[in-house]
Amino acid sequence: MTCNHKDLSTVMEEIELFQGSGQRHICAGCAYLLGVNHRENNSKYNPGAVDDLPESQAQPQRHRNAYGAYDKGFKGRARSRTLP
Ligand SMILES: [Zn+2]
Repeated sequence: MTCNHKDLSTVMEEIELFQGSGQRHICAGCAYLLGVNHRENNSKYNPGAVDDLPESQAQPQRHRNAYGAYDKGFKGRARSRTLP
């Protein structure tokens, strides 16, 4: 499966790189959207759900940390910026 998250390019640039081995290259773009979805549906914080997402190494989400992406999606970009 190939994802195209070009509209998330700016968001993806804010997410830390992850180049480690031993972890699937889960699509960070989908992970971000999952986090947003959970927030908007008042679901509880569940980064483990990221494990069920497809893998993708397409740009711009290549090598981005999917868990970090979920976290950012769930907490929201604007708010996280104003946190201390
Ligand atoms: Zn994706």
